[in-house]
Amino acid sequence: MGKTAKKKRATPKAAAREHTYPVSLGQVVELEVTGLNHEGAGVGRHEGYTLFVPKALPGERIRARVVHAKKNFGFADLQEILQPSANRVAPPCPVFDQCGGCSLQHLDYAQQLLHKQQIVKDNLRRIGGFPVEGEGAIPVHPTLGMDNPWRYRNKAQVPIGEREGGLIAGFYAEGSHDIIDINACLIQHEANDEVVLAVKRIASKLEIPAYDEVNHTGLLRHVVAKVGASTGDVMVVLVTTEAFIPRREQLIEAIRLAVPAVKSIVQNINERKTNVIFGDETKTLWGDDVIYDYIGPIKFAISARSFYQVNPEQTRVLYEKTLEYAGLSGEENVIDAYCGIGTISLFLAQKAKRVYGVEIVPEAIADANRNAALNGIENATFEVGPAEVVIPAWKEKGIRADVIVVDPPRKGCDEALLTTILQMKPKRVVYVSCNPSTLARDLKVLEEEYVVQEVQPVDMFPHTGHVESVALLNRK
Ligand code: SAH
Repeated sequence: MGKTAKKKRATPKAAAREHTYPVSLGQVVELEVTGLNHEGAGVGRHEGYTLFVPKALPGERIRARVVHAKKNFGFADLQEILQPSANRVAPPCPVFDQCGGCSLQHLDYAQQLLHKQQIVKDNLRRIGGFPVEGEGAIPVHPTLGMDNPWRYRNKAQVPIGEREGGLIAGFYAEGSHDIIDINACLIQHEANDEVVLAVKRIASKLEIPAYDEVNHTGLLRHVVAKVGASTGDVMVVLVTTEAFIPRREQLIEAIRLAVPAVKSIVQNINERKTNVIFGDETKTLWGDDVIYDYIGPIKFAISARSFYQVNPEQTRVLYEKTLEYAGLSGEENVIDAYCGIGTISLFLAQKAKRVYGVEIVPEAIADANRNAALNGIENATFEVGPAEVVIPAWKEKGIRADVIVVDPPRKGCDEALLTTILQMKPKRVVYVSCNPSTLARDLKVLEEEYVVQEVQPVDMFPHTGHVESVALLNRK
């Protein structure tokens, strides 16, 4: 992640040196922080020029050093807080400053939720032109957060390295591939920390070498830990450069002993020189191929490679809202566009006549079909392909939709899909979004035939800048 960010910064740097901008690199400026951007960085202005300062909060007066300048905005490092915000809290994580995984731990959680609600409002207003305050405003509800916003992630993907003969495991220091060793990540489920610690300790003792990225030598590249939060089942995935693992049986025995909840130990082989974690070959070393988890009443099988929501507790909250907005009586045909492994589809199938799910990744559709069978759900049909091609084809075949649910990736819905929705005219559209700016853009298109009734932000990723929301649209 740091690598591409660095690359992008190369050219503007030169321009900043020539003082094309009101700031120069290395310059220390005093700023009033007036906002937070979508990545959780503080926003301030110096002579009208926008500077983003990670870890600075609105209402603060700070000193910051310019580290990067573009034409219309730049980035600065926080040097000193001259006037702290009343909402600032001490981040409980000891590596908060080095990690970069959580960008908002220094902001009180209740304020994080307010901030995320505000981000949704700002985008709807600025990009969609929607009223969000006062009379006629679209209700953007307070963000639904977690009672305990820690230890929520069910999956850890941890690079392994070596230091003085022992193994280390943690995260890459920002902008580099140096591994910082950690023993706990406060947003990870305890079981995942337990797995990583156990593998680190056991593999060190058995002298199983870590992969060395520079020389392309060694064996153990990553440990991936997964836990079914509602079942307690644990999966351990060892990503290695080759199939042969020395002292393999001892390794398996020791992991089982150290982590009694383990139900599956899997090896994935990735021999390539790459930053991509997984290779093509996966084999089960011990136990089952999958672990199970429930979201609400629906059971999901999770394999080493399958996609699964990382915060199941909040996923349930999001999907219950989606189901509520869908307003199903049992008579409806529903389309779930961008359905992934069918999580939303199966949730909706409980209350719909039939659900049609479409997704571009074939493996995800295979999982969706498997999960439908696992739950005895027979009124869900899945198809592989681009939603913007498959749904118009369904329309041609005479399939009607009473409700269309979309849950697109960050770039939002394809324009052809929006056009098809406007032509199919379902009674309701439920838009689940992980990016408020594309949500606002797409709602503006759908406004031609639909009234945006209400929007509900849900906090799926506490302490990070991510904002998820669900919008209900009724046909005019
Ligand atoms: N609804 C799912 C996943 C949503 S993530 C869940 O809640 O788990 C968005 C999904 O859209 C991804 O699975 C991605 O593979 C898929 N996708 C991306 N572009 C697509 C397209 N053009 N047509 C269909 N699916 C697409």
